[in-house]
Amino acid sequence: MKRTGIKPLSDKRRKERLLEGFIPNSTLKRISNKRRKQMVEEKILARMLWIKQKGFCNRCKGVLFGTWPPPSKHEIIRRNAGGDPLSEENCEILCSACHQDVTLNVDIKDKGVHR
Ligand SMILES: [Zn+2]
Repeated sequence: MKRTGIKPLSDKRRKERLLEGFIPNSTLKRISNKRRKQMVEEKILARMLWIKQKGFCNRCKGVLFGTWPPPSKHEIIRRNAGGDPLSEENCEILCSACHQDVTLNVDIKDKGVHR
């Protein structure tokens, strides 16, 4: 197949892409609707967990608000090991330091489980 150069987007198409949440001039792949929906659900879950944990890290009990790098949702059983990224039981909010520790500390006996 002959490769053609990248055509600049028309103004109309650029506007449509912006409305879709697509970053202009980026080489990122467009996100499928299914993936997008899951990302939204994960964000909602992260908020719920944040409230449940009262704004504290689930491990070191440090305050999460205003920390940098930002805290993130940790999946206790990784999704590639069959963990559910949308289950409240499988997720917790950790500060970035705890998240890094827990991600690096993988017990091989516990297939894909981070604790
Ligand atoms: Zn922590």
